[in-house]
Amino acid sequence: MLRSHWHATLHQAPLPGIDLPSTADVVVVGAGVVGAATALWLTRAGLQPLVIDRHGPAAGASGHNGGILAAGLAENYLAATARYGASTARELYALSLAGQRLMVDLIQQEQIECDLRLHGNLNLAIGEAQLTIAGATVAALQGDGFPAQLLDRTTAQELVAIPLGAAVSGARFNPAAGTLHSGRLVYGLLAAAQRHGALCSWGVTLRQVITANGRLHLITDRGTIDTAAAVIAVNAWSGDVLPELARRITMVRGQVLCTVPVEPFIACGFGASFTPTGEYGQQTVTGQVLFGGCRAIAPNHDVGVQPGEVSPEVQGALETSLGRLFPTLAGINIERRWSGAMAFTADYLPIVVNPVPGLFAIGGFSGHGMPFAAIVGRHLAEAVQTGTIPSALAPFRIDRPTLAVE
Ligand SMILES: Cc1cc2nc3c(=O)[nH]c(=O)nc-3n(C[C@H](O)[C@H](O)[C@H](O)COP(=O)(O)OP(=O)(O)OC[C@H]3O[C@@H](n4cnc5c(N)ncnc54)[C@H](O)[C@@H]3O)c2cc1C
Repeated sequence: MLRSHWHATLHQAPLPGIDLPSTADVVVVGAGVVGAATALWLTRAGLQPLVIDRHGPAAGASGHNGGILAAGLAENYLAATARYGASTARELYALSLAGQRLMVDLIQQEQIECDLRLHGNLNLAIGEAQLTIAGATVAALQGDGFPAQLLDRTTAQELVAIPLGAAVSGARFNPAAGTLHSGRLVYGLLAAAQRHGALCSWGVTLRQVITANGRLHLITDRGTIDTAAAVIAVNAWSGDVLPELARRITMVRGQVLCTVPVEPFIACGFGASFTPTGEYGQQTVTGQVLFGGCRAIAPNHDVGVQPGEVSPEVQGALETSLGRLFPTLAGINIERRWSGAMAFTADYLPIVVNPVPGLFAIGGFSGHGMPFAAIVGRHLAEAVQTGTIPSALAPFRIDRPTLAVE
């Protein structure tokens, strides 16, 4: 597997792990950002979770993503309103906004050093048609009381210290956004959970969950864990352990490149839509420009593809698109390339299930899980304590009308 910038620059001691115990208060399966946040909330509720992961912390999407923590949904707000209806779209956006703020709170409260910079996100419009859509999106967001600004090209340029490409017509600015070091975030959340009593076992793969005498038995490749409750947060791999999610959550390989360091030129995250599936990026605190997206260039090569390698088509498109956004970066040397496993659902929202008492699972964040992780983790910890999925997660229920499968 190609190493991501986040793993290559982690500079942290490994998080301690223990041999797999045969019993636990509650088990969290998956040490991505969602599992890590869930474990932290469980410890805050006085429980001692056992976190297991097939590999280790941030081995999945969370350690291979763009590091953008932005309120909002996988889809543009206008598209989301058309798909879910106005009131659900508003509810979902509010959840993402609360989630983005809650993650910032967790980072600050637990003093997680993850290069968090809250400078917003600049969604650059390419051509006049995209600027018109950006304007309508900003109007809809503002109309519903959410922070958003429409910037003309001159104002957008003021946020960027190198020239914007000729095709950039303006931008939609999301103030409720920031960038961070995704690897250090996950390590920091897990380290905080461990400080508060969580235990971790690495290199443990969950195969199956069975119930007996009101208890859950988690069958792993290292033995069976007997527990009263478990949260499965394995995202793109959900279908491997819960057959009911196999048809609903599709693994999609996302790709990223990272340039050699350059002088600081942008403090906020940025995005654009050269392809229908979109592009996103940030300049890291050490100067590299991290840029991902362009999946639509090779749709049949990324849907259902395991992460690991990158494809020349997508990587070439990323380099071209980066040069079109910022012409002085055209042809810049690339330090690193990698891919990660996103988990898509038919309507771009995650799915939460409670298949048997005590067992909860969530996955399918559709390439936009960062703003949801902290709040979803808090609600999942609540679910473990109450035995039911809290109403705040109702938009993610599997029987929602927008998730029809033929
Ligand atoms: C290239 C890319 C760019 C992205 N950019 C952004 C972005 O900038 N902003 C944003 O909001 N979102 C982004 N995302 C999406 C975001 O990273 C995910 O939504 C989020 O990380 C999902 O977190 P998770 O904890 O649910 O899953 P993951 O991080 O995928 O974690 C799942 C974990 O489960 C483990 N696991 C799997 N199967 C098993 C098993 N059977 N037993 C035990 N462990 C198992 C894996 O090893 C893994 O560690 C991006 C994703 C990718 C791939």
